[in-house]
This record gives sequence, structure tokens and C-alpha cells, in this order.
Amino acid sequence: YAHPGQPGCPVRFRPQYENFVGGKWVPPVEGRYLDDVSPVDGRVFTRVPRSSLADVELAVTAAHDALPVWSSTSPVERARLLLRIADRLESDMERLAVAESWENGKPIREALSADLPLAVDHFRYFASVLRAQEGSLSQLDPDTVAYHFHEPIGVVAQIIPWNFPLLLAAWKLAPALAAGNCAVLKPAEQTPASVLLFIELIADLLPDGVVNVVNGLGPETGRPLALHPRIAKIAFTGETGTGQEIMRYAAENVVPVTLELGGKSPNVFLPDVFADDDEFADKAVEGFVMFALNQGEVCTCPSRALVHESIWDEFLDRALERTRSLVLGDPLDPATMVGAQASAEQLQKILSYLEIGRGEGADLLTGGEQRSVPGLEGGYYVEPTIFAGRNDMRIFQEEIFGPVVSVTSFSDVDDAVRIANDSRYGLGAGVWTRDGTAAYRMARAIQAGRVWVNCYHAYPAHAAFGGYKQSGFGRETHLDTLRHYQQTKSVLVSYDRKPT
Ligand code: NAD
Repeated sequence: YAHPGQPGCPVRFRPQYENFVGGKWVPPVEGRYLDDVSPVDGRVFTRVPRSSLADVELAVTAAHDALPVWSSTSPVERARLLLRIADRLESDMERLAVAESWENGKPIREALSADLPLAVDHFRYFASVLRAQEGSLSQLDPDTVAYHFHEPIGVVAQIIPWNFPLLLAAWKLAPALAAGNCAVLKPAEQTPASVLLFIELIADLLPDGVVNVVNGLGPETGRPLALHPRIAKIAFTGETGTGQEIMRYAAENVVPVTLELGGKSPNVFLPDVFADDDEFADKAVEGFVMFALNQGEVCTCPSRALVHESIWDEFLDRALERTRSLVLGDPLDPATMVGAQASAEQLQKILSYLEIGRGEGADLLTGGEQRSVPGLEGGYYVEPTIFAGRNDMRIFQEEIFGPVVSVTSFSDVDDAVRIANDSRYGLGAGVWTRDGTAAYRMARAIQAGRVWVNCYHAYPAHAAFGGYKQSGFGRETHLDTLRHYQQTKSVLVSYDRKPT
């Protein structure tokens, strides 16, 4: 694909974007803006509002103004809106994928095959579950019943990170709107433009004020949003440290919060991976190299690999060969498998962990260096990197959020479970084996909200996703999420004519 600014590129970014408030594009009250830099070449390509409390105030007010009407629409009407959003998004996937790839650095082939189709499906899924959801009735005695209603919760604050800007906007907005809430969304300051292009695309479908977007920095925009006394719920995705702050803000107003936080997901390879089925072995090796998907900037990045000691040499030979064959380059080239890290700050963080790994005495098996892509010298590229070491090293315990995997060995299933669970996080895990009993035992014993068996990095709308331990709580995707955006009202009615 041609780059933005070159002839033939499907995306034309505006030089400047505004906040989306009450159905209109509104400049920031204090008139300040932030530069938006493409990690592909390290250059500024647009700017977005640097919002303050005053902008948050406008957005929350607009959402409240819209709430009485929107929250009393019928499920049929809300489902219809979600389906129209899905259709609109689907009709313009290529343009949005190029925008996302340019702004985030992810390979266009991933944006086109995963981020965008998953976002489309997410809106369709919540249109369906909304229609299928029913309340309940309990008969308390022959004349008394309790009806349970799922009511919208109100105006919700939604704060998202930069690694999957469009998909995570969909993960937040679809269930919130389905449930009849109005939303104030804050995209990450590193990747606001693709979300704003999406909002621009669907703006005419949205009743004014139902979705509002305020852009800006975490402490200046996210904080006043999360602390706002007229917010009824906070949905947050980001780092565990920020999640802890968000919980403190939520405590101020006693509002519910759902947190999707960091991870250090173990990917476990049992001895039978190389039994006699070469196709299965290839699939397992593909599962291993998933650590480089989205340049490792995935909360469920399989950043710890646990390889059984009996297959250590053979597995690593194949894993190394496959890792070295990953094509790193211009994210807008459909052949590219590893693109640019999302920001200069993230690049520096990853490089510092490469030093930490070396300093701790881990074996650097491949990669370990920053890379320069011809013609894109200002961009942020890092070689897919494999370290071998021990689970007590920092590179096994801390989230690097880059194309870096730390590998260690284990002796039996119990040992693997012990290592897998020796982490503050519990988001994802992978298990590779043809032994159904071992797979079941491990999947149940690993403390993680999502365990993939003989697959990895699949995010269908209809499977619940979320963390154990310090990876957060609450679930996204799946019907469970709809419930997080609803209140339960019980109406207890006596039909008895006699006085009690
Ligand atoms: P981050 O916590 O720095 O920022 C996330 C969002 O929070 C941004 O919009 C940011 O502006 C905002 N923010 C920052 N400080 C804030 C504050 N004090 N008050 C309110 N808002 C604030 O995270 P990041 O670096 O953008 O994203 C990477 C992290 O996100 C990783 O830890 C990753 O694992 C996690 N993540 C988790 C999931 C999941 O589903 N569990 C998915 C994607 C990413």
C-alpha cells in the first residue's frame, strides 16, 4: 500500500482532528493539541486535541443529555444501530486498516485479517445477544413474584490503550451501546486517529451524544474522566499500574470498574509435540512464533515459552529457524509479518529489556537488536528475539510488550503448571499436546482467564476474555460483557389481596 500522502493511498488524514461531543466535532476548550507520530517513519502526520477537565465536562454532559432517550430505546432499535455500524465498518475496512497500520505500526496483513473483521463481528455479536437476552422471574410464594430486569447503567467512561485501537474501541462501544448506555471514550494518545476516522465514518448513524470521544493524555484527560462524579462505570484497558489508579478513582464515586490489564502469558509445549505428526509439530512452532504477532504488543503475548526438557533441542532448532524467517519491514507491505513498535517510548522500553536480559545472564538465541528499515530510518523496529533463561529472571516476570520471548524448560506437567503460575499476571496461556488428559489438567490448573489448547491468539466475540490475578477482572467479548454494562433491578410484587 502507498503511504499516507503518496498517490494511491486509501487514507487521507486531516492535518488536525477534534473531539467528538454531542454529535459534533468540537475543538478543545484550551486550544491545545498533541502531535500524532507514525511509528512507521517516526514523523508527525496529524494532531489531536490535548483535552482537559473542561472538555471531559462537555462530553459527560452531552452523554447525559442523550441518555434518557437512548436508554429507553427498544433492543430491536439498538441492535439495528449496531448492525448498521458493523456494515459501515465492513464497507471501509481497507482504508481503516491502512490508517491503523500507519498509526500503530502493525502489519497491514494483520489489520486486514484480524483487527478489522473482529471489530465488525463484535458489533454483530452484541446486536444478536442483545436480542436473545431475557430477564428472569422468581416466584417467592403463590402470590409474590420478583421480576429481574437488566437496566442500562448510565454514562460510562471507556479508556483504551494503543495496541489495538479500533478493535478495543469496538470491544468497549458495542456492549455499552447494546446495553443502552451512553459512552465517553478516550483513545490512547499514541493512536487516536484511526478511532476518530471510525467515528467519522459512523457519525451520521449515531444519535447525538450517545458516543463521545475526548482525546488527550492519561493524567490530563483520562483521570478527570474516570474521576467524574456523573460517570456510572469505568471500563479500562491498559497497564496494571494505571489500572490500580483507575480503581482508586472509581472508589471516589463508588462506581463499578472492569479492568483488562497486563500479562506474561505462558505457552507450554509438551513432549508429544514431536511425536509423529509433522503437521501438528509445525502448528505448535507457529504457536510459538505468535510472540511476534503485533510486534509482541499484545496483552496476551505468549512471552514465556515452557518447553519440555526432552524436546528442548529439536524444538528450539525449529523455533529459531521459523523466528529468523519472519519478515520484518514496512507495515504497509502485505508481505511484512513484523512491523514497527507503536512509539519511541515503547521502543526504548523494549531495548532496555534486551539489556536487562543480557545483564541477568539469559542466553540470547536470536535477535536482540534494533533494526533499521531502508527508507523508513526514523521508524521503530526491533528484531524478534528469543532468550533462554529461568522463570525468576525479570525478562520472565515483567511485561516487555515487544517481540521478545523468554524460554525455559520443565520436567513434567506439575512442574509446567508451577512455572506457569509463578507470575503476578493471569491473562492468557497456551498448551500444545495431543494428550487430552494432560491438556485438560493443565488448562484447568493454569491461573489465567483464557487458555488456548493447540491454538493461540484467537479472539472470537463469543468466548469470554479477561484476567485472573493482576491481569484485571471482569470480562470482555461474550455475553458476560453485556452484564458488566447493566444493572440488575428486581421488582418484587405482591398479588395478594389480603393485608400481610
Ligand atoms: P496505559 O495504562 O499507559 O494507558 C492506557 C490508557 O490509559 C491510555 O488511554 C492512557 O492515556 C490512559 N491513562 C494513563 N494514565 C491514566 C490515568 N492516570 N488516568 C486515566 N487514564 C490514564 O497502557 P498502554 O501503555 O497504553 O497499553 C499497554 C498496556 O495495556 C499493557 O500493559 C497491556 O498488557 C495492556 N492491555 C491489556 C489488554 C487486556 O485486554 N487485558 C488489552 C490490550 C492491552
